[in-house]
Amino acid sequence: MKIAAFDIGGTNIKWGIVTDGGEIVDKGSFPSRVQDGADQLIENVQHKSRQLKEEYSVSGIAISTAGQVNSDKGEIVHATGNIPGYTGMKVAARIESAVGLPVRVENDVNCTALGEAWRGNARGVKNFFCVTLGTGIGGALVMENNLVPGASWCAGEMGHMPLYPGGLTCTCGNRGCLEQYASASALERQVEIQKGRFVSLPEFFEEVRNGVAESVRIFETWVDHLACGLQSIVHLLNPSVLIIGGGISAQGSLLTDAITESLSGKVMPNHFSALHVRIAGKGNEANLLGAVSHYLDNQ
Ligand SMILES: [Zn+2]
Repeated sequence: MKIAAFDIGGTNIKWGIVTDGGEIVDKGSFPSRVQDGADQLIENVQHKSRQLKEEYSVSGIAISTAGQVNSDKGEIVHATGNIPGYTGMKVAARIESAVGLPVRVENDVNCTALGEAWRGNARGVKNFFCVTLGTGIGGALVMENNLVPGASWCAGEMGHMPLYPGGLTCTCGNRGCLEQYASASALERQVEIQKGRFVSLPEFFEEVRNGVAESVRIFETWVDHLACGLQSIVHLLNPSVLIIGGGISAQGSLLTDAITESLSGKVMPNHFSALHVRIAGKGNEANLLGAVSHYLDNQ
């Protein structure tokens, strides 16, 4: 059986043809063009879905998307301004009626977790927390092999844990949230402020690897902030694995070693003894795989 999977983000929409065994047999992407509005975005997904249905005889459509998702109904219960008009969108119903195939929808960070549980670095792990570092910080929680959605579909919002009460203003309306200090964008901002010029993150991490003192100091402060957030997650949930996702996870063991080292001084011994910090192994394919995993579990 083949499923057409989509990963809807604010910049691009990725698609893949995925087998029920978790193999991606074809994939591609097209721009989200969010300036055209959410209705047009959904029409573009419908158009591509019809094309893929024709070409690959897929049995269904699995969607990973930005925004808080009621995954029972396949509706967006809340979305930020990144995709104007997306809040309230009945994604599953609209695509189902236009394409004539069953559609399942899940939040993108939850899909990262499900993809890693199915085919990545959380395979066989009963209790883990998945963190994605990007513009903000996303979180998804799997306890006893079950994804935890929360009472209104927004459990795991780790980025809005307070780090410095009264600190930097956050997109959520509060001040001092973790993601203002420990997201990938926050690191980029700190590098620019401290160095007085823009440095791309890959370039910055090269400097850290080469031991450039100023860069190492900025990196260590950033890791310390991130680890403060993870410390609370570990004490609260006692996971055996923390999965680190987002583009920055390309830094591999440089990142996981630094986070582990920082956590070793923050987490109580019994919690720490069970804990492993791992990179998301499926990279930007995890969301497509997770969407299909969710589809197969909810047929
Ligand atoms: Zn916030």
